Amino acid sequence: MASPKSASAENAATLLRRSLERDRLGHAYLFLGEEMPSLEDAALGLARALNCETPASRSPGGLGLDPCHACSSCRRVSGRLHPDVVWVHPTRKMRQIGVDQMREIIHSMSLKPMEARHKVGIIAGADRMNESAANAFLKTLEEPPKRSVLILLSTEPHRLLDTILSRCLRLNFGTGSAELDVGVTHWLAEFSTATATAGEGLMPRYRLLGSLLTSLAARKEQIEKSLESSSPMSRYPDADSDQKERWEVELSAGVEAEYRRSRGEYLGAVQWWLRDILLSTLPAGDQFLRFPQWAHNTQTVAARLNSERAGRNLEVWERTQRLLHTNVQEALALEVGLLRLQL
Ligand SMILES: [Zn+2]
Repeated sequence: MASPKSASAENAATLLRRSLERDRLGHAYLFLGEEMPSLEDAALGLARALNCETPASRSPGGLGLDPCHACSSCRRVSGRLHPDVVWVHPTRKMRQIGVDQMREIIHSMSLKPMEARHKVGIIAGADRMNESAANAFLKTLEEPPKRSVLILLSTEPHRLLDTILSRCLRLNFGTGSAELDVGVTHWLAEFSTATATAGEGLMPRYRLLGSLLTSLAARKEQIEKSLESSSPMSRYPDADSDQKERWEVELSAGVEAEYRRSRGEYLGAVQWWLRDILLSTLPAGDQFLRFPQWAHNTQTVAARLNSERAGRNLEVWERTQRLLHTNVQEALALEVGLLRLQL
């Protein structure tokens, strides 16, 4: 049986190949995974395919699909010697990517390819860009030069600025997010339908909030019941009061931790869906949907937005989740977050 890791990486590689087959080449990719070397291999694979002189097959529009690994281009890409495939790495000393490094690659990407069909810029450890480096890079990411492809590699995507995250097509080459909980998936399906069919105004938005809060409350009750029944308190009713108090503290800490994890799943699922909406506003995006099963809802919402507004939604929701890690009042944070979304 294939390990989950190879299944996920295969899945990402298949998605990428399928998009090339259809001549849909994104301008900026974010390759995610647990190990940088395998992400670098994946980036090299794409760079080889795009620039191979004698690929075994091509898309209708001429994109190379199966690089030969033997031609001069393939060999130089593999050896990291190709003048049109440029790399940025974090410096050894500071483990950071600074603004000068980014300026260099931005300049290099702005020049026409010397010999290749596509200029490829690979930013290994993109999450190590410091803030000024990331800001210098945003414009290139928004308006990339023609015939260029940027590939950002990250093992810690939570460190990337929202503005960068939202401008890349993400492909997960790691073990990645496990399958979503069935209850969460079911809830999100209803949520997406309710959003797609909701009218304008505040009332529909408060109904969405209500649906989220109700599901979270039900989940919390479930967690309380399940942890209470396994707590020693129920088995030792005669224990002394000190002991009982300790068990109670343990129990409530356990409930809180489990509830936060579960809430993270719900909010993370919404985040995935908002990303699907953003993808649906982009020309080559809809093939990467995380939830193709309700693409209709996703496209309905996407049709009401543009990519800028859809990208802002991701920023709003990421901020909401970060806020919940602080001691902010939950219902209030969710209300503010949901009302700020443009759906
Ligand atoms: Zn080749």
